[in-house]
Amino acid sequence: MNTKEQPDVILKAEDIHKSYGETKILDGISFEVERGECIIIAGPSGTGKSTLLRCINHLVPPETGRIWFNGKEVARKNVNEIRQKMSMVFQDFALFDHLTVLSNVTIGLIKGKNMDKIAAREIASEKLTDVGLDRWMNVYPGELSGGQKQRVGIARALAMEPELILFDEPTSALDPELIGEVLEIMKKLAQRQMTMMVVTHEMGFARSAGDRMFFMEGGKILESGPITQMFSNPREKRTGEFLHKLEELYGKG
Ligand code: ADP
Repeated sequence: MNTKEQPDVILKAEDIHKSYGETKILDGISFEVERGECIIIAGPSGTGKSTLLRCINHLVPPETGRIWFNGKEVARKNVNEIRQKMSMVFQDFALFDHLTVLSNVTIGLIKGKNMDKIAAREIASEKLTDVGLDRWMNVYPGELSGGQKQRVGIARALAMEPELILFDEPTSALDPELIGEVLEIMKKLAQRQMTMMVVTHEMGFARSAGDRMFFMEGGKILESGPITQMFSNPREKRTGEFLHKLEELYGKG
């Protein structure tokens, strides 16, 4: 968490609205994130958590509302520039099955950052080593476990040298025994002060790595606050009920 007196706001959202057809998905979302914070986004399924992350990086442009990243407004015209500093890790990994692990990580550097192949390989192999996959660089994703695939997804995100990483339920497609290896890497990133926004049901991770939580319901942030307070003394009864239910289902970590 940022401990300086002046808040160093990396991301600001103001009154974001998004509908699909007649259905309102995001209904006036506003927040600020400080550099170095790990924000946990929790809430019932279908409440717009994933849509919110997608609006932040303009994978899904919001209908109304504004988002600023490093003081610059996120808009269609600068979305490529913004995404070079804002990576996303997906629930289903989103790897290219026909490319090796190494190429899955280098492709964004070569195509997105116009880096030459040798430099891209150097960065990719460093990031894959960071996530414990140095021996797996030349295999294809089909040969990996789900946990390893997601670690490739994280290495790919890190290779862009992002200032913010958006994690969209990064462990929910994994078998229970593979969840821990991914959460451990995410915890280390949080300890290294990487700014992260994480949609997750893993409340053990939230308690140990999160700084603040946004609790979403019905397309709104019903409540936000420091993690410990959200568990021990939530303002809304609904927040406490939901979080304790998640702890019963997923464990306290
Ligand atoms: P959460 O992440 O909280 O589970 P989502 O943001 O994934 O919620 O989805 C919120 C709602 O929006 C859900 O009802 C979902 O079915 C709907 N939705 C998400 N993406 C689309 C889409 N591309 N087209 C239509 N409806 C969508």
